[in-house]
Amino acid sequence: MVLVSVSSALAQTLPSPREHFGFNIGDDYQLATYTQTEAYVKKIAAASDRTKLMDIGLTEEGRHQFMLIVSSPENLKKLARYQEISQKLARAEGLTDDQARTLANEGKAVVWIDGGLHATETVGTHQLIETIWQLVSRKDPETMRILDNTVILLTHANPDGQELVSNWYMREPKPEKRSLDNLPRLYEKYAGHDNNRDFFIMNLKETQNIGRQLFVEWFPQIMYNHHQAGPAGSILAGPPYRDPFNYVFDPLMVTGIDALGAAMINRMNVENKPGYTRLGGSVFSTWYNGGLRTTTHFHNMIGLLTEIVGGPTPEDIPLVPSRLIPNGNTPFPVTLKSGIIGSRLTTRYHSTTRCSTMLPAIATNYCLTFIRWAKTPSNGVARIIGGFRRRKSTRSIRPIRQIQKNQRRPLQTRLWRSLASFHVVVVCRLNIMIPS
Ligand SMILES: [Zn+2]
Repeated sequence: MVLVSVSSALAQTLPSPREHFGFNIGDDYQLATYTQTEAYVKKIAAASDRTKLMDIGLTEEGRHQFMLIVSSPENLKKLARYQEISQKLARAEGLTDDQARTLANEGKAVVWIDGGLHATETVGTHQLIETIWQLVSRKDPETMRILDNTVILLTHANPDGQELVSNWYMREPKPEKRSLDNLPRLYEKYAGHDNNRDFFIMNLKETQNIGRQLFVEWFPQIMYNHHQAGPAGSILAGPPYRDPFNYVFDPLMVTGIDALGAAMINRMNVENKPGYTRLGGSVFSTWYNGGLRTTTHFHNMIGLLTEIVGGPTPEDIPLVPSRLIPNGNTPFPVTLKSGIIGSRLTTRYHSTTRCSTMLPAIATNYCLTFIRWAKTPSNGVARIIGGFRRRKSTRSIRPIRQIQKNQRRPLQTRLWRSLASFHVVVVCRLNIMIPS
């Protein structure tokens, strides 16, 4: 009885975004500052037993950068263990097949979602707030399943930028006059928009804070990086990305992106939300090696990028004749009937994308962690060189060929098993994605 009354009391103190900010996330002409957002996250962390708030370091302007860990209360009690498992599987040092499978069975899928890296792309920041609210307040079976099966790392990517951009936009008292034009300075103190190009050298404090969590502390199996906007006439540009993909990456990472991309677009289509474009429908690729998303690929993480339209000021989706005929890039294009949309619609889109990301995270819990274990750096190199060797043999690759010779059989066995389990689990779980 005491527990019940305590939990209901906690639930009552969870503030909605409207109660805290004075507006719903996605309302026209409204942006939240980082000061307001940080205060909100602290309130949520104090009231919800589904959260653990982490301060991952100071920004260049001295603000505290947060990462809110969200999972079920039971999982949070064992958070250190799940973190240890994720680290062990990623580093793959001294693990046998059986040990890796045992760890994968015990562990939870770790999923990273960030927002606000490019601060003028305001949907990214605000989906982070809305996603936090949805994950801590909802009690439906899908949300409970997500909480039970995943550890979610919701990380703010650029606090200084949000503070600057939102204050600049909201300085105008008349809502209809608000604009992001003529921003007075860079929204990251030194790099501005190039804060996304800093992940190969990590000069900036925000990059270092994020890199420490991604590549030292947590090694998430899935990471999701938000941007805007995609090509004119689309609503959302997402995975998979255009060919040719970067063939340095292990093919399982590449097809992992495909698998999650398929789940995302399928969920959109089920919910009658047109405008998702992929593959050759947009310019985004896996080739820039220094971005927040693309550096994760070198660590065998399934790094996702979406580019969505929207913002606080309502805008039109233009009619682009070349996009009106459905094709493999855009199976469900925006048509004239779609009309005018504003940021509220795009926030809903991101909510859907969140679900679509989470569900495969559940489905792939077993296999992704296992796949990552199978792809030690030497294995990855051996496979690439193995393909190369069939065409051309040179002296310089002999040492690596030796590695390949030693590891080919167990690697192939492991990959086959993981692919087989992946297929079965995904097929079973995708049925759950159809909303009732
Ligand atoms: Zn961007």
